[in-house]
Amino acid sequence: MAAASLMEAQVQYAYPYRMESERLVMFYDDRITEPRRDLDAMEKHVARMEVITGKSLRAKIHWVRGELLGQGHMALYGLALGSPKSPADWETADHPDKVSMDRHELAHAVLHQHQPPDADPPTLLIEGWAESLAGPTPQKRAEWARDSRKFWRESTGAGPADRQRRDPFTNTARGDVGEGGRRRDSYLRELTGAARYHHIDGAMYGVGSAFADFLVRKYGIERFLRLYFACKPGRFEADVQEYLGVDFDTMERDFWQDVDRLAGDKVADQ
Ligand SMILES: [Zn+2]
Repeated sequence: MAAASLMEAQVQYAYPYRMESERLVMFYDDRITEPRRDLDAMEKHVARMEVITGKSLRAKIHWVRGELLGQGHMALYGLALGSPKSPADWETADHPDKVSMDRHELAHAVLHQHQPPDADPPTLLIEGWAESLAGPTPQKRAEWARDSRKFWRESTGAGPADRQRRDPFTNTARGDVGEGGRRRDSYLRELTGAARYHHIDGAMYGVGSAFADFLVRKYGIERFLRLYFACKPGRFEADVQEYLGVDFDTMERDFWQDVDRLAGDKVADQ
């Protein structure tokens, strides 16, 4: 919280201009060539997220166009640190996959306003939520998730249960439980388990954006937010059961089927 206050104070010194809309206060400097257009675009984005979450903002989000105290690309309490330039086109945000850091950081900022102080969701859900609203198409997000799972399978030897279950020499069932009693093909257990719960890496974005989007579509925003705000490290599987009302394996199977469908695979790789 101290860091956030310091940043709020710093905004006034670092950025000479401010412009307000209904839901945002934008702080910027001369690098921003289209301030009104930028503000209108992100005002619409935040208004849309109010509809998606079913929750109104408690206060205007302070949207800073650039870095503060050497920090950038982040959201902290009421503050979102976004892009330092006006994009040529907001639809793509000048990115080949339509990823907008402003849409991403503002998505964090929206949930920050509603989360209880003891909320501790896994990085997969935090970055997944923000990235799912950053702009890429559902197909692109599904491709990222599928590619990430493929890489994980290749690097760990995990794989679909059918491949694991049969011993190739005796052709007898071997069971599909790997080390620690976990299912060997449960990538979501690995990404939300204690070891990677607070970890940040590419998979958190690549799988997380498809995952957050799937949970919201399949179980509804209310249950998604209940899970997001209440889940705790070391018990994500139990929390999925409690807050989504589904067992983890069923949820994960449905998720990957959704990914394969959206990625446009002819044969689902399950
Ligand atoms: Zn983020």
